Amino acid sequence: MRCFYHPEYYFPLPPEHPFPMYKFPEAAALVEAELVQTGRAEIVPTIPVSEAMLDRVHARQYQEQVRSHGLSRYARNRLGLPAHPRLYDRSRYGAGGTVQALEAALDDGIACNLAGGTHHAFPDRGQGFCVFNDGPIAIRHLQARYPELTFMVVDTDAHQGNATHAFFRGDPMVFTYSIHVAKNFPSKKEPGDVDVGLPRYASEDAYLEALEQTLEPAVLQAEPDVVIWISGADVHKDDRFGQLQLTLGGIRERDDLVLGILARHQIPTAVVYGGGYNRERHMTARIHANSVLAAADWAERFKV
Ligand SMILES: [Zn+2]
Repeated sequence: MRCFYHPEYYFPLPPEHPFPMYKFPEAAALVEAELVQTGRAEIVPTIPVSEAMLDRVHARQYQEQVRSHGLSRYARNRLGLPAHPRLYDRSRYGAGGTVQALEAALDDGIACNLAGGTHHAFPDRGQGFCVFNDGPIAIRHLQARYPELTFMVVDTDAHQGNATHAFFRGDPMVFTYSIHVAKNFPSKKEPGDVDVGLPRYASEDAYLEALEQTLEPAVLQAEPDVVIWISGADVHKDDRFGQLQLTLGGIRERDDLVLGILARHQIPTAVVYGGGYNRERHMTARIHANSVLAAADWAERFKV
């Protein structure tokens, strides 16, 4: 199984900053130790997305503001990330991994980006730590080559994939599904094709039951040729921002549920991260890596 990663996914933030940038190298090290060294996966260097690929999704003026550190204080606050000389490149690499994982999924059945899932980035503005929206960038890139392909975004991050939903609204070739806490960030929801809004601090059982009841019918309705799955580490009970109560075991059940449905229907799948802000320093990386491990466990079943 190919996992796309690049050291550019990381740049240092102040230790008190709420975004755990360190999770990217930490999770990659876990994947390296537990999957690459056992011969079950390989880590492939990511190629950043080009300006032409960004142009299909993001306004040129916004791209320039990110590149030249020209975001206003208001825009930086909404984004939640400080001006940094590597912000633009980091965001291009992060999206590039999803482009490559989507292409690799079509060849191999399943592949992972060890980042991505930046589903709050709108065409002209960033929000909630999301600069460029890797899902739409990857899908638009694939559509340019294969206009007949149908896509589905399965989003199990604790927050609604608002920008992705808005981007694909009315697009018959892209189906969007999100299961999330209804009264949590983002305050303004954007309707997708299927939205499963859960109460704050819904129990693990309630979460898994809602997922089990809604995901397969959505997949049957969408009939996608390929899926991007934003796994999300912020459903964990100790997450700062997720407002859910899943344990590590419950997250593994979630991962097996999602991967089991997609494998059963033989739908090539690109697995990407989404958010994660655990109170325990190393837990976020552990949860992201666990989802990649789950994908490796299911990889044989995705082969066509
Ligand atoms: Zn989230």
